[in-house]
Amino acid sequence: MKPLPRFASLCIALLLAACAAAPPAPPAPRAAAPAAIVPAASAATPTTARIPVILVSIDGFRPDYLTRGVSPTLNALAADGVRAIGMQASFPTLTFPNHYTLVTGLYPDHHGIVANSMNDPALGHFTLSDRAAVGDARWWNAATPVWVSVERAGLHSATMFWPGSEAAIQGVRPDHWRPYDGTVTPDQRVDTVLHWLDLPPPQRPVFVTLYFDQVDHAAHEHGPRSPEVDAAIAEVDAALTRLTAGLRQRGLLDRVNQVIVSDHGFASTSPKRLVVLDRLLPAADIEVVSSGAVAGIDPRPGHVRAAERALLGRHAHMRCWRRSALPARLHYGTHPRVPAIVCLAQDRWMIVTRAGLASHHGKVMLGDHGYDNADADMHALFIANGPAFRAGVVLPVFPNVDVYPLLMHLLGLPPQPGDGTLAPLRPALRPTAGPATP
Ligand code: AMP
Ligand code: ZN
Ligand code: ZN
Repeated sequence: MKPLPRFASLCIALLLAACAAAPPAPPAPRAAAPAAIVPAASAATPTTARIPVILVSIDGFRPDYLTRGVSPTLNALAADGVRAIGMQASFPTLTFPNHYTLVTGLYPDHHGIVANSMNDPALGHFTLSDRAAVGDARWWNAATPVWVSVERAGLHSATMFWPGSEAAIQGVRPDHWRPYDGTVTPDQRVDTVLHWLDLPPPQRPVFVTLYFDQVDHAAHEHGPRSPEVDAAIAEVDAALTRLTAGLRQRGLLDRVNQVIVSDHGFASTSPKRLVVLDRLLPAADIEVVSSGAVAGIDPRPGHVRAAERALLGRHAHMRCWRRSALPARLHYGTHPRVPAIVCLAQDRWMIVTRAGLASHHGKVMLGDHGYDNADADMHALFIANGPAFRAGVVLPVFPNVDVYPLLMHLLGLPPQPGDGTLAPLRPALRPTAGPATP
């Protein structure tokens, strides 16, 4: 399907309200979006006939972390299944945009979660810590995440945290979901997932998400090379060992497809590598909507010319573009939520403001992400294991918009048209793979 009808029909479906901030027609998809890849089982197929898919995200897990010697279960799942050398995150390489890409197959510019912090002309401001915004479907409605399609097919879904899962997107929620709470331990998260899989087959979810934030936290605070990151990887890996044991105990180990991903990689940062925006222009001339490895900036009314003069172009460790002039390969800049000027830090520098530094008492993170998605350090993790997958396959780098077509293929549901394609993942699949019965 061509892009324009996609958004046109979405707008009708969402009764225009949610499309107040709908972007212009997106560019053509990277490759023809897959039609129903396998003969999709009809909605009438009993739930018992579906092999559940568990989508695990380890926030900020860079693929080379597998070589640190602290993740035996992840390594075993990769060796006995499929692993990618790396998976290209979408731009910007931030948590919310990429998690929503993974479950929708759309670039952030097309699904509307264009940053962790953003403004919408009609909805106001969005940040991760604003519970009301995170749970407000109007931010998310332009895309259809996997769990919404699962529910609409009469099947069941459950989310042990996932950005977007707290909102009734297009009026639909997962059967089971939890408000985000970082204090829930990895083991508790796994036990909740196992509890959902214990439901009798007619109610058992066929799509389950499981999210871990510990590795991301440790790498921000101590840097990606730190022993604290080793400890966080080991803690998450132990939780995955518990998941494997729980599945085995239930006779489900060979009857579940696990797809284990991260949202982006990580780079070492330093308080010595800061681009201070207010050294380039008066802070009062601009609204800094988001900052860090990538910054979104809206000039205040009456200051557009001055802000553009001060910011656009190359700087020592930063480059800024009008949003309409961003490099095409970033697939970013058409959505109305993208600020007027986008600045990208280079060489592991970070873009800050004096006020932002003061609010953190001058403390600067030792690791960050958000950088150019062509940067190999921003690459994400991809591992898959289960009856649908071959053993011992190592895939070349592919873009994370392709995970969604894979998930829909595994579930036997027709994918929404989007930016991804199943093609790079076909070599990972067993010939008979599809909505197989256990
Ligand atoms: P960042 O590193 O700035 O891209 O943000 C990542 C952080 O977002 C994680 O470490 C979590 O603390 C937080 N986070 C993850 N999922 C959610 C969620 N569903 N709601 C709110 N915050 C979340
Ligand atoms: Zn993240
Ligand atoms: Zn992070």
